[in-house]
Amino acid sequence: MSAGESVPAGDFIRQRIRDDVAAGKNEGRVVTRFPPEPNGYLHIGHAKSICLNFGVAAEYSGRCHLRFDDTNPSAEDIEYVEAIREDVRWLGFDWGEHLYFASDYYPRLYEFALELIRKGKAFVCDLSSEQMFERRGTLTEPGIESPFRGRSAEENLALFEGMRAGEFEAGSRVLRAKIDMGSSVLTMRDPVLYRILRATHHRTGDDWCIYPLYDFAHGLSDALEGVTHSLCTLEFADHRPLYDWIIQQLDAPRHPQQIVFAPLNLTYLALSKRVLRRLVEEGHVRGWDDPRMPTLRGLRRRGYPPAAIRNLCREVGVAKRDATIQLAQLEHEVRADLNRSASRAMAVLRPLRLVIETVPEGEVDELDAVNNPEDESQGTRKVPFSRVVYIERDDFLEDPPKKFFRLAPGREVRLRYAYLVTCTGFSVDPDTGEVVEVRCSHDPASRGGNAPDGRKVRGTIHWVSAQHALEAEVRLYDTLFTREDPLDLAEGEDITAGLNPDSLEVVNPAYVEPSLGQAEPGVSLQFERIGYFVADPDGTPERPVFNRTVTLRDTWAKLAKQ
Ligand code: ATP
Ligand code: MG
Repeated sequence: MSAGESVPAGDFIRQRIRDDVAAGKNEGRVVTRFPPEPNGYLHIGHAKSICLNFGVAAEYSGRCHLRFDDTNPSAEDIEYVEAIREDVRWLGFDWGEHLYFASDYYPRLYEFALELIRKGKAFVCDLSSEQMFERRGTLTEPGIESPFRGRSAEENLALFEGMRAGEFEAGSRVLRAKIDMGSSVLTMRDPVLYRILRATHHRTGDDWCIYPLYDFAHGLSDALEGVTHSLCTLEFADHRPLYDWIIQQLDAPRHPQQIVFAPLNLTYLALSKRVLRRLVEEGHVRGWDDPRMPTLRGLRRRGYPPAAIRNLCREVGVAKRDATIQLAQLEHEVRADLNRSASRAMAVLRPLRLVIETVPEGEVDELDAVNNPEDESQGTRKVPFSRVVYIERDDFLEDPPKKFFRLAPGREVRLRYAYLVTCTGFSVDPDTGEVVEVRCSHDPASRGGNAPDGRKVRGTIHWVSAQHALEAEVRLYDTLFTREDPLDLAEGEDITAGLNPDSLEVVNPAYVEPSLGQAEPGVSLQFERIGYFVADPDGTPERPVFNRTVTLRDTWAKLAKQ
């Protein structure tokens, strides 16, 4: 967190932690964790959990662990572990030495399981998963007990050790907790704790052929690490009785307090690793870091500053009930941050030749341009100006309405940082009727953009010198889905039905100031009058590539005023 960011006001989680600290619970310590499963890349939903867990730990001089919940080798990969570490750091958080893996606890989790069996609290069950599902009952009907529930501790121990030793087929047996098939909470109906899985784990290799389920591994990992407050999203509310039950049975060293909060949802974004993986695998996007993806790497490549994401999470706050945040609110945070930090530059996306006939051929003028009006320390730069420049096509109209303050026959306009010019004529393609060139004269006494006689010129347009401009590829993005809630599907409808066919428009070539060839990938710029852009790693100094981060129009501010 940077110094300028304020501490969030008291939400119910912070309130709870403050009370616990005041009451001397856990000797006043606060230990939280962010527990990703390394089966995909982090998305902006995860950012909320990261900001919350690392945020409250920092506010109470506690610590936040980064723990990989790596209990499903069939879906997980070391590639994701590396990427998640990088993304959490990029977002601005540091776990110090507290990096953990649930897989490091496998031997201890196994011991815990044996202890449960010895206490008569767990049994080996030979039902298939379908049979178990059939006997699970419903919210209104109790479940049916497994015929294997009555096995003796000795038999269970022998069978579980056999499972561990690889004596049984995958899927043939599981270890289940012996709790209550009549419980009103479905997760308490003798849940599965361990299963046989023949897959090579990215850390433990082939050491194990039984793997603990999330509920078993998660709570115990929390307890083993001395986590004091285990903050989870709402879907875990139903798992809380099981979380508590497991820890109580085992005299675990500490009993962490689980608290649930509402996940972050944003309009137009599909925040689900499963869906995002599909988009990548089926080629709907160019990869996990495609700038249209709501992954942290996608947002980063799109040019979203990490501070803007942190600010969104702070503004949204933490609540108990589900809500969906407008994507416009995130864009508002992005603009607010980039407005302060991004250097300005001129770029023309739909070029139209403007010939300034009063400027001699071959003459080059170097003009001073302000890099950021919001930040004087960014200084100025030189921009070359010559007889032929490109302007935006829609900054010229042959037959304009009265209130059009740009270029039109006989009208005067300011070329940003350069001169006042007056349109003297234009040429049209005889076949298409399209304007192909505009001519004008300039007022040499208006260098820098102001008339010496103080006459008022309302319109200012941007431009680039044709002879100096660099050709660039500019990628304009729209939302990946046309629907506000891409995950809300009609029956039989596939998620791909909501994909936006126009989510990417490539402008090639656009013309940009020559200095932009030097822009390192990741550097953000405001193209004046167009929007915020970021240099993409696909570019070269000769032919840079820019992604549009966000347009300039602040629709959010407009909505708020209504
Ligand atoms: P997904 O639902 O996208 O598949 P996940 O919940 O399976 O994600 P995990 O790796 O298990 O992904 O999540 C790590 C942590 O991030 C969990 O504690 C989870 O509660 C939290 N998290 C996931 N999605 C969100 C969200 N949209 N808002 C807030 N926290 C989230
Ligand atoms: Mg999850």
